[in-house]
Amino acid sequence: LLNCRVQTVVKDLKNLGFKNITNDYIINKEYIELILQEYNYEIPSSTSSITSTNVYNELKDPLNPKLLESRPPIVTIMGHVDHGKTTIIDYLRKSSVVSQEHGGITQHIGAFQVTTPVSKKKITFLDTPGHAAFLKMRERGANITDIIVLVVSIEDSIMPQTKEAIKHIKNSGNQLIVAITKIDKIGNMKEREKKIEKVTNDLILNEIMVEKIGGDVQVIPISAKDGENMDLLEESIILLSDMMDIKTENSRNTMSEGFVIESEMKNTIGNVATILVRKGTLNNQSILLCGNTYCKVRSILGDAEKKVPKALPSQAVEVSGWKELPHVGDEFIQVKSEAIAKKYISKREALIEVEKNASRVDKLNDERYAESIRQKEAKNKDELDEDEDETTTTNVSIGPKLVNFIIKADVSGSAEAIEESIQDLGNEEVQCGVISSSVGVPTETDLKMAEISNSEILCFNLENLPNDVINNKHGVSVKKFNVIYKLIETVVEILENNMKKTF
Ligand code: GDP
Repeated sequence: LLNCRVQTVVKDLKNLGFKNITNDYIINKEYIELILQEYNYEIPSSTSSITSTNVYNELKDPLNPKLLESRPPIVTIMGHVDHGKTTIIDYLRKSSVVSQEHGGITQHIGAFQVTTPVSKKKITFLDTPGHAAFLKMRERGANITDIIVLVVSIEDSIMPQTKEAIKHIKNSGNQLIVAITKIDKIGNMKEREKKIEKVTNDLILNEIMVEKIGGDVQVIPISAKDGENMDLLEESIILLSDMMDIKTENSRNTMSEGFVIESEMKNTIGNVATILVRKGTLNNQSILLCGNTYCKVRSILGDAEKKVPKALPSQAVEVSGWKELPHVGDEFIQVKSEAIAKKYISKREALIEVEKNASRVDKLNDERYAESIRQKEAKNKDELDEDEDETTTTNVSIGPKLVNFIIKADVSGSAEAIEESIQDLGNEEVQCGVISSSVGVPTETDLKMAEISNSEILCFNLENLPNDVINNKHGVSVKKFNVIYKLIETVVEILENNMKKTF
């Protein structure tokens, strides 16, 4: 393409400072651009900035300031385990979530809307998970949040996960309201006041600018058990959101946008996703583009699992009609036709392939470079020590041992969170390899894949695993978990067992 001989290019590359150049050296995109410049070729600038992560942005319309209107605030509840997050959600939802959860830990994100008792305005609550291993999902949750309610128990005050949440709130730039929970547990009013004072002072020590010291963070003492001040908490959220002036565009022609907060395969209706609308109105038959999949909206279910005709901004609904399960935390955008959705998915897939190749090429060149250094060193050693047995010099290290796993979970949010929690576990001797992570009971393909890749299968929140899966004919180990930290502990143990024993 450059119109010159390979030898000339190789020579020029050496002159440009490239090391170890051979005829089959594979060049990545950045280097190609540099070389093209050397040969005075124009680089098409429009293509270089489009990546698989931003390729859909060109389909988005910027917000039109003239069409902006208020939308309900989206609220996340955070705080230390057992400080009362689920009980607040439960109170607000008026259903009994606490008793259903394994070990009282909320395992995946859901969302629901309430109408406040006094001002009759709407608030959307995201039901975020409370466990540290779900940090990644929580980060995603918080990105789509306007306000965070930090819960602090009147009995314990600030605990490790409260501090972690405070750090997160500061980083995310979200607005904050503090709820001091379980006040009903201190019956004596004087004692109660004293304890509230103590928690407030602890908040100040953690640099929370509460109203007491002239800041703007409201502190509301509540009891989610008997409902005391719960209405005040809801109205405080409305007060804050009015001050924040939360707005979006929602005209007849606005194309909707939002986030996936949960996704799941349902036996009766296929792939469904809970999505949170941030802009525009979502209607039946709308075409939604999201990651590597799209959806022609077949049905919309509201809070109470009832069919609704549409979803307005800040509303969370369950949508069916997805070709594949979308990923939790991914953004969706509405497009005009299935053809556009398909075209952009192919465009994104092509970009992913190019990006993968680029990093593969980098790795390959690095490996070749390392290998050539190793060969040189081996040669030097040979020359220095001619008596040494030839075979010992070729004994090169091949990096950490990979211990493989396949993850199967009840919902894609959990599968992704587990993958992210374990994939970086390991050291220079053993590394965790995640072959695949997906939703549902392990299939015959999963078992075959595990056999071939020498993986163990880790199942999360999957009840009633069939016997022929657990005692499968492939001899694959299938382990069951309901609590995430138990799963992580087991993975660490397996990795440790795979390390060479040193005495
Ligand atoms: P989470 O881990 O933050 O979701 O905490 P939970 O909501 O599961 O609450 C932990 C325990 O504290 C449960 O036994 C609740 O019944 C109890 N609890 C939560 N809020 C209150 C409250 O306002 N008053 C009282 N007395 N108990 C509460």
